[in-house]
Amino acid sequence: MIGFFAATIAAFFVLAYLQVPILGWTVAGGLLLGYLSVVADFGQTTNMVLGAAFVLVAALCNIKPLRRLVFSDPILGIYRQILPDMSQTEKEAIDAGTVWWDADLFSGKPDWNKLLAIPAPRLTAEEQAFLDGPCEEVCAMTNDWEVTHERYDLPPQVWQYIKDKGFLGMIIPKKYGGLGFSALAHSAVVMKLSTRSNALSVTVMVPNSLGPAELLLHYGSEEQKNYYLPRLAKGLEVPCFALTSPEAGSDAASIPDYGVVCKGQWQGKDVLGMRVTWDKRYITLGPVATLLGLAFRLYDPEHLLGDKEDLGITCALVPTSTAGVNIGRRHLPLNAVFQNGPNSGKDVFMPIDWIIGGKDYAGKGWMMLMGCLAAGRSISLPTSSVGGAKALARITGAYSRVRSQFKTPIGKLEGVEEALGRIAANTYMMDATRIMTAGAVDLGEKPAVISAIAKYHMTERARRIVDDSMVIHGGKGICLGPNNWVGRGYQVIPVGITVEGANILTRTLIIFGQGAIRCHPYVLREMRAAKDLEGSAASIEFDDAFTSHIGHTISNGVRAFVHGITSSRLGQVPRNGAPETRHYYRFSSRLAAAFAFLADVSMLAMGGALKRKEKISGRLGDVLSMLYLVSATLKHYEDQGRNREDIPLIRWAVRDALYSAQHAIDQILSNFPVKAVARLLRWTIFPLGMSFRPPLDSRNRECAQMLLAPGAARDRLTAGMYIGKGEADPTGVLEAAFAATIACEPIDETLRKAVKKGKMAPRHGVDLGTVAREMDLITQDEYNQWLRKETLRRHVIKVDDFPQDFGRAEILAKLAQEKAPTAKAA
Ligand SMILES: Cc1cc2nc3c(=O)[nH]c(=O)nc-3n(C[C@H](O)[C@H](O)[C@H](O)COP(=O)(O)OP(=O)(O)OC[C@H]3O[C@@H](n4cnc5c(N)ncnc54)[C@H](O)[C@@H]3O)c2cc1C
Repeated sequence: MIGFFAATIAAFFVLAYLQVPILGWTVAGGLLLGYLSVVADFGQTTNMVLGAAFVLVAALCNIKPLRRLVFSDPILGIYRQILPDMSQTEKEAIDAGTVWWDADLFSGKPDWNKLLAIPAPRLTAEEQAFLDGPCEEVCAMTNDWEVTHERYDLPPQVWQYIKDKGFLGMIIPKKYGGLGFSALAHSAVVMKLSTRSNALSVTVMVPNSLGPAELLLHYGSEEQKNYYLPRLAKGLEVPCFALTSPEAGSDAASIPDYGVVCKGQWQGKDVLGMRVTWDKRYITLGPVATLLGLAFRLYDPEHLLGDKEDLGITCALVPTSTAGVNIGRRHLPLNAVFQNGPNSGKDVFMPIDWIIGGKDYAGKGWMMLMGCLAAGRSISLPTSSVGGAKALARITGAYSRVRSQFKTPIGKLEGVEEALGRIAANTYMMDATRIMTAGAVDLGEKPAVISAIAKYHMTERARRIVDDSMVIHGGKGICLGPNNWVGRGYQVIPVGITVEGANILTRTLIIFGQGAIRCHPYVLREMRAAKDLEGSAASIEFDDAFTSHIGHTISNGVRAFVHGITSSRLGQVPRNGAPETRHYYRFSSRLAAAFAFLADVSMLAMGGALKRKEKISGRLGDVLSMLYLVSATLKHYEDQGRNREDIPLIRWAVRDALYSAQHAIDQILSNFPVKAVARLLRWTIFPLGMSFRPPLDSRNRECAQMLLAPGAARDRLTAGMYIGKGEADPTGVLEAAFAATIACEPIDETLRKAVKKGKMAPRHGVDLGTVAREMDLITQDEYNQWLRKETLRRHVIKVDDFPQDFGRAEILAKLAQEKAPTAKAA
């Protein structure tokens, strides 16, 4: 009997671990029963009863019509009753975009070979030339202090340059005169620009993200495409997209802006059109836009288009010169100064063919927006966050070496080192995520859930990096001015947190909420069977999805448990993965199984209520997100050719992410509404306790050191950023001071030792280097080198000060003079 029980348990674990189909379970059950009847000697009658019971259960499990009748159909009935109704807008949001690597993670069994087989994204020679040419050039032309303090705008020559060079048409194909860049190149451009000026990067980012060009490309009529796309590509039109209104922010589908289909006069002719009334706010590029992409709800009370009265959200392209369009006023979003403001119109008449795609697309606006959201969201904010991170990593490391306190470069003080190490490792992980996500878009994906993960976690990590960087800079970061390279970044961080899906909503509602339905192998099939299908089609589809779902849940639970008791030793590793990172794949396999099991049990235990339990769903989203970030990091290491120097960055970032995922699971279990289930889950997921530990301090030190010295790892980590040129440039002078400080360290050491040994004494009002030179303790060359380092160092630690009016009078006079010739000519 002991043998029988041992065999039964072993069979259960093996069959569940391998997710063997029901028929396999039936065969194993039959063999076990046969074995039992031999060893137990129950007698003929008992054997016959057991055999009959087995045949009955086997028939119920394997004969599908019978299984449906007895088991799945009744469950389908209950499922239909408890499944909350979904609005059309919710359905369109759920259906939008594609699933990719997120689905592998959601399966609980990510195939790491598949991940590493995805080709590494690469720029073409033409794209690289654009980055090295026009992109470098426009960065050099832009002075962020002039933009943010003096002009509150980009200078006219920068505006002209970005229009002329096609920056506003990167996503527009070449046949329409655009640059036709890959998502990776688009991302690399936005990243570089954001290392120089937020206003510059946002101005370029917005026309290339969700807006008129993207919508036209997917849904525009040929006539609209042929007219607008070449004009947008050349910057002859400046676009904006207006969705948000005072009453509808995050809940954008509830916009009160409306249009009514009617007949009217347009350019002297009677045409079918719409009278549109709207009141929008926060619209980026709105104040200077010539082409307004406008979202409103369209009604057709006179049935001029068809039977329906409430047609739904509709997107139209409205030239801002149209009579009745109020545009031009500005908001001031935290001194970011990219053009942003409200616009409105009351009963503005416009022809019906201004609807993007024409009248056939009336009411399809929400589907169009949701369909296009993922590509832009994968790039804009994740990328600009990486730009910020790279710039701050390089700058803060350099500053920490140049700035000394307590006779030590501050970067070598452990407290500062801790923050520096975090900056370095997070930057690596963010860049890896940027590249993998842009690569997915280039493979034709519109990754709905992944874009939300990238948007949320990159902006949040950027916020952490800016915070770390600010505290490292101390007062130097706080006092704004041309020589402060951190303060503006700190100011604008909340913009990225708020736009394109405010972060709390993105984390708690979208990542897991949409992920659970879209990425889960069976949930969407079950829902469709319940809501969209009828009769036997519904029964067959539901039965197949639901029974597979049960097997999937049991398998993930068993696999999570087995990985837990074996310290993930059985977890899959990629065939060709680097030996030094193999354990991270195994750990991730364990977490993926735990996540998939936990997600299923949470859905089962809480049903529709899980949607409102945002603290739980947010944490489930965190686990999924950490798995995605770890995947990107491990792949990046491979794609970059396994640079061993980068290993500390990977170790810190991956360990931190795994630990965060474990923490999120722990928090879910501590707050799980059904306590008995929570105990069972904890026992399954953490049978030997929580084994992931936070990154080691020694690893953190190695990461920090990469930023404190020049080297290939530092250059790789900050590759693609704009580095200020020359000592007149605020970041250029920092680079020079950094190099000079390091080169001068032996001389500084000589001075320190001389003072310590009493060979010389500091003299009031005279530099130590001068005293040393007078006493011939250093050569003239060394003295010159030391003086240059001191000049650069003093420049770097300098903080700007201003007259009482912060120079506004002088600035206004300069700007008035600039405008005078134009006014005269006019
Ligand atoms: C600088 C800037 C530029 C912008 N550019 C544009 C543009 O070009 N075009 C455009 O149309 N719009 C634009 N927006 C609007 C932007 O998309 C909205 O600000 C955003 O959707 C959030 O709306 P809200 O600010 O009204 O915040 P609210 O919707 O009022 O949200 C407030 C808080 O509640 C949270 N929240 C809301 N719902 C939920 C939920 N269900 N669960 C959990 N938390 C929730 C949010 O996360 C947020 O933290 C811009 C905004 C800014 C500030």
